[in-house]
Amino acid sequence: MKKKIIEMPCLNEARKREVKKDIPTSVFKMDDTLSKLGEGKYYLIITHGCQANQRDSESMAGLLEAMSYKPTEEKEKADVIIINTCAVRQNAEEKVLGEIGDLKKLKKNKPDMIIGIGGCMAQEEEAVKIIMEKYHQVDVVFGTHNIANLPKLIKDATESHQRIFEVFSKLGEIVEDVPATRFVNHKAWVNIMYGCDKFCTYCIVPYTRGTERSRSMEDILNEVTDLKNKGFKEICLLGQNVNAYGKDLKTDYGFGELLDRVAKVGIERVRFVTSHPWDFDETMIKAMKDNANIMPYLHLPLQSGSDHILHKMNRRYTAEQYRNLVDLIRKELPNYAITTDIIVGFPNESDEDFNDTLKMVDYCKYDNAFTFVYSKREGTPAAVMPDSIPQSLKEERLQILNKKIGEYANMNNQKFMDQVVEVLVDGKSKKNDKTYSGYTPENKLVNFTGENVAIGDIVKVKITSCMSFSLNGYML
Ligand code: SF4
Repeated sequence: MKKKIIEMPCLNEARKREVKKDIPTSVFKMDDTLSKLGEGKYYLIITHGCQANQRDSESMAGLLEAMSYKPTEEKEKADVIIINTCAVRQNAEEKVLGEIGDLKKLKKNKPDMIIGIGGCMAQEEEAVKIIMEKYHQVDVVFGTHNIANLPKLIKDATESHQRIFEVFSKLGEIVEDVPATRFVNHKAWVNIMYGCDKFCTYCIVPYTRGTERSRSMEDILNEVTDLKNKGFKEICLLGQNVNAYGKDLKTDYGFGELLDRVAKVGIERVRFVTSHPWDFDETMIKAMKDNANIMPYLHLPLQSGSDHILHKMNRRYTAEQYRNLVDLIRKELPNYAITTDIIVGFPNESDEDFNDTLKMVDYCKYDNAFTFVYSKREGTPAAVMPDSIPQSLKEERLQILNKKIGEYANMNNQKFMDQVVEVLVDGKSKKNDKTYSGYTPENKLVNFTGENVAIGDIVKVKITSCMSFSLNGYML
């Protein structure tokens, strides 16, 4: 099938940053000629990766429904299948290529089906070349900067029968009012900013999601108020690094002020991810102390406990600075649960470096942690760093770390024994459909028995047993 290349991803362009950036903001308007294109047709979105991708998929769903497509869970029934990809680790990419491969037969039986690839993998030069050369069943490739163009791209592919490639590697812009179909109706992600300028040496995100750019406080408050009025019980403010909110705006307010204003809208539960220790400040702690509806849960990625490795990662803080920050949070916000991200096996991580990480876990006694073995990302500075550490030793370190994380998670969860906790109900438990599940304010997963329970209810649950990563109980 013929190709139409509008733009291809370019790592050199994606690397560029401007000190004085003037981020264009526009308001999305649906082209009416596209609103009936999907009548009588169905779409399916497969989402990989982080919360930012979950939220982007809600926009893709909103755009497809604005074209009159209806959602389906069945691949065979879909007329449009979008895979929203993740590039944070190699295995995430291999999984996506496997999925695209599986669609080849389906496409053969349904040649008018449109298969689209979006997300961070589509922002990578090498990945798009592979899709272009080897996966001819893919009709549209678009990136993280032009999701709002999806309707036009689908029309183009449908009518021209060409494969369309449109991926921009640029600083990025902000497009407001893109229609979104929320995947659940009781809690919602709210983007406050996009992109990242931290350039941690192992991370592909600054190259796939562009420069840090903040939405206006007014647009964010309008979205939160709208969600509250629609009956949502919980919102989570979203950004690769929410603490940097507002630094690119010509205003004197930052994340602390935004958090306080969002909490004052009055929605039951306010959360936020992800925080970078480097940008953490007193205004945030003040907002978290002053507003009871900001949930007592903080995700504070560490990545490593070794100064040597933190420096090589370009994390911009030392182990001591991180410890001091945790001390401050424990002093000012004693009831907060703290979780983290840790990478083991960074290039040439020594036994001593790894022990520093274990010591930091002993110091912080986290409620939980997302732990990973370092995954080389082409184009990042760490990808060319010498590394003589065998993969087997890296895997071994991960096991040792996970065991320790499990012990502290269990220790922290034991505090909830015989306690009555508030749970926002997400639905039937994955483990047992006679029980329900949801999360406490500390973001603890609870499985519980109860009668007449509805998704979105906030119920009181008496805890009867505690596991490392979940609690059990019965509804009062
Ligand atoms: S802060 Fe670092 S790890 Fe997080 S998205 Fe930015 S570059 Fe990646």
